[in-house]
Amino acid sequence: MIDKTINSGDLQARYNSTVEKDSKYVMQTYGRQPLVISEGRGAVVQDIYGKEYIDCVAGIAVNNIGYCHPTVVKAIQAQAEKLIHVSNLYYTEIQAELAEALVSVTGMERIFFCNSGAESVEAAMKLARVATGKSAFVAAEHSFHGRTIGALSVTHKSMYRDPFMPPVSSETKFVPYSDADAIRKAVSEDCAAVILEPIQGEGGVNIPDTGYLKEVREICDETGTLLIFDEVQTGFGRTGTWFCKEHFGVEPDIMTMAKALGGGLPMGAIAARSGFSFGRGQHASTYGGGPLVCAAALASIQAIKEEKLLERSKEMGAYFMKKLSGMKRDDVVEVRGKGLMIGVEIKYPCGKLVDFAREHGALVNCTSDTVLRLVPPLVITKEQVDTVVDVLEQA
Ligand SMILES: *Cc1c(COP(=O)(O)O)cnc(C)c1O
Repeated sequence: MIDKTINSGDLQARYNSTVEKDSKYVMQTYGRQPLVISEGRGAVVQDIYGKEYIDCVAGIAVNNIGYCHPTVVKAIQAQAEKLIHVSNLYYTEIQAELAEALVSVTGMERIFFCNSGAESVEAAMKLARVATGKSAFVAAEHSFHGRTIGALSVTHKSMYRDPFMPPVSSETKFVPYSDADAIRKAVSEDCAAVILEPIQGEGGVNIPDTGYLKEVREICDETGTLLIFDEVQTGFGRTGTWFCKEHFGVEPDIMTMAKALGGGLPMGAIAARSGFSFGRGQHASTYGGGPLVCAAALASIQAIKEEKLLERSKEMGAYFMKKLSGMKRDDVVEVRGKGLMIGVEIKYPCGKLVDFAREHGALVNCTSDTVLRLVPPLVITKEQVDTVVDVLEQA
């Protein structure tokens, strides 16, 4: 906790020094909020002044089990004293155990471990190419799959893509989201996979029409094209189920995971169904599935189970959306979401709302310009939801 004996002048100096060092030494890629965060517990973070914020950003859908969850903290501490890193040239018990747990929650057959969302997309693309012998991809408009060159090749937003072209897959075709006919037309003979987020996150919390993903599955089966679900943002209870695919009753051939997977530590993974796997030497990662992050991921899965966070995500998500829909405002176009992945589309760019909310103790994120994205820790309480909705209503 904040040391109350430090006077506010010292705190101001610490704030200024941090911002100065950042502006001098860190590449200025992030549009940062004027906030130096030092601690977090549950759904609340604290800045260096000791001011608290209810966090509906959660590290962008990373901290699903809340900040500093004791189960994860203990697991990290215990593992750190035993073994932090060892090469994948050797087995570790903890990695094998996590792979088993992930197979169980995904319903897939095999896991490959990496270190981030973009890397999981890279792995999925590589696996799709090696498994099919084909090279092209079909992706959706407004998709976001990460910032590495391969992942960018299937990411739609021109601001992210254009400065770094040509893409790895020059044949990527972008089609409107939630339009199965467009997929049917775009899938060609040389298409390795269709890659889709089962709910688009960065693109504005876009939920596909019922039946869309099922139809895409059928098209893929008919044409020998693989289906990749990018569940990096939608995984681990975010939408009220372990994975978003469960809402639609559709199984992909490969799925990507990251964000909440590591309980706050950086980790990515793909899960693939029977018949799809890398052969020896076809892919690798020095850090992938390291003991420390595996311990954190296992503890995080345990916490999700023990605290029934899937149910909680469903219930609190429904409550949150009901409260948001009841706001007396005429600038809200739509409130949409599943579980605690919620988008509030408004009639104008939402940057100012983000500032107002922060100044009043709530962190929210604006994505796709006009959509407030609310992805709080799944442990958020009703009272905290009420407070956030009050702030947004006044904003
Ligand atoms: C965040 C995100 C990624 C990229 O994850 P990084 O860990 O930032 O590389 C990929 N896909 C989706 C759907 C995401 O939300």
